[in-house]
Amino acid sequence: MKRVVIGRHHGTQSSSLQSYREYVDASLLDELRELAGTLRGVRICHVNSTAAGGGVAELLGREVPLLEDLGLHVHWRIIRGEKEFFGVTKGFHNALQGGPFDLTPAIQELYLRQNQEAADVFSDDYDVYVVHDPQPAALCHFRRRSGERWIWRSHIDTSSPNPEVWRFLQPFVQEHDAVVFTAREFVPPGLSVPRLAVIAPAIDPLSTKNMPIDDEICRRAMTDQGVDLRHPVILQVSRFDPWKDPLGVIQAYRLAREEVPDLQLVLIGALAGDDPEGWGVLEQVNEIAAGEPNILVLTNMTGVGNMEVNVFQRGADLVVQKSLKEGFGLVVSEALWKGKAIVAGNTPGIRMQIPGGYQSFLVDTVDDCARKISELLKDTATREAFGEAGRAYVRRRFLLPRLVLDDLRLIRALSGGPSMA
Ligand code: UDP
Repeated sequence: MKRVVIGRHHGTQSSSLQSYREYVDASLLDELRELAGTLRGVRICHVNSTAAGGGVAELLGREVPLLEDLGLHVHWRIIRGEKEFFGVTKGFHNALQGGPFDLTPAIQELYLRQNQEAADVFSDDYDVYVVHDPQPAALCHFRRRSGERWIWRSHIDTSSPNPEVWRFLQPFVQEHDAVVFTAREFVPPGLSVPRLAVIAPAIDPLSTKNMPIDDEICRRAMTDQGVDLRHPVILQVSRFDPWKDPLGVIQAYRLAREEVPDLQLVLIGALAGDDPEGWGVLEQVNEIAAGEPNILVLTNMTGVGNMEVNVFQRGADLVVQKSLKEGFGLVVSEALWKGKAIVAGNTPGIRMQIPGGYQSFLVDTVDDCARKISELLKDTATREAFGEAGRAYVRRRFLLPRLVLDDLRLIRALSGGPSMA
């Protein structure tokens, strides 16, 4: 029996292009429709390693249905592997963000074997493959057939990768026809590919995670979860991952509470299918939170889904995203889109989402984080102005139709149309 299977996933409910008129320039939607028309018949396949949890699954869950609505032939395939495979690929993920890693021959063998098995069980044929992140980065090596175009889409900060891991992955990445990063500074040293693109991710204003929700519903839902709305609430929504620094958030919260009595902290954390590290981090967080009645820890395992994330992002007084490294951090745009001010880790992925004039709320240390939290909580006018500027900033740069347009432009440039000339 194969240990790797390729599942097909369909994303969440479809939104028609028309529905975005309220949020996006008509000219962008027209261009998108026109471009999609030129790509009819091109078979596109997105490949990643989890259907839920984390930003890539979030993105594909929204992008794939919109591409379908544009009349495109698009599938989303998920490579599944042994538990150890995801242990290894999470290690690669951390190493590509600069962390330590012991790259043994056995690990290299496991990684390549799982990619080979994934390639072997791919059932349909496609013209364009978009492979996301390190997990399936060697799929092209094992699967590529003549006439196909392969894109590797990195969602992480690979500006200073662990040299050993990068040396191992680089030849596989370089077999792609194009490589996409979120920011120019994420391009790793020495990369040589025929085409390099920089495309920022985006959020979907029509998803259940981002659609408008009545204030009263937000209040009730938060109260039901145990929040006391008479007192201020700060929120971080993240996978339980050391780079998201949930323990640092708790330290900053404790310091801020000295200035803002009765402050509450809500940590919402997803456990992603391809992130085995999450359980250990959650355990640490739970241990600390157990002795602190004003810290609430909620997870997707206890039924916290998109709607709850939406509710808490709307209902919190302030959002925190204290990442130490961040490929982008969809949660930042999600919070800003809801008009929330945010105190966040000073990383390029996050910085690019913060409107001018508010970059001073990017923090490098726990102390600074605590200071900025209490400063903003005490200054309602700045908080509101930040949130308003943030929403306008996200509207112009980080909404789904812009991302789909950028992605299709790249596919168009690579494919030259349905004939794949
Ligand atoms: N998310 C969620 N529930 C959680 C934690 C996260 O739905 O408990 C979502 C979050 O709203 C965002 C995505 O997962 O849409 C995380 O993407 P991001 O880019 O912020 O981080 P990543 O996990 O990809 O590093």
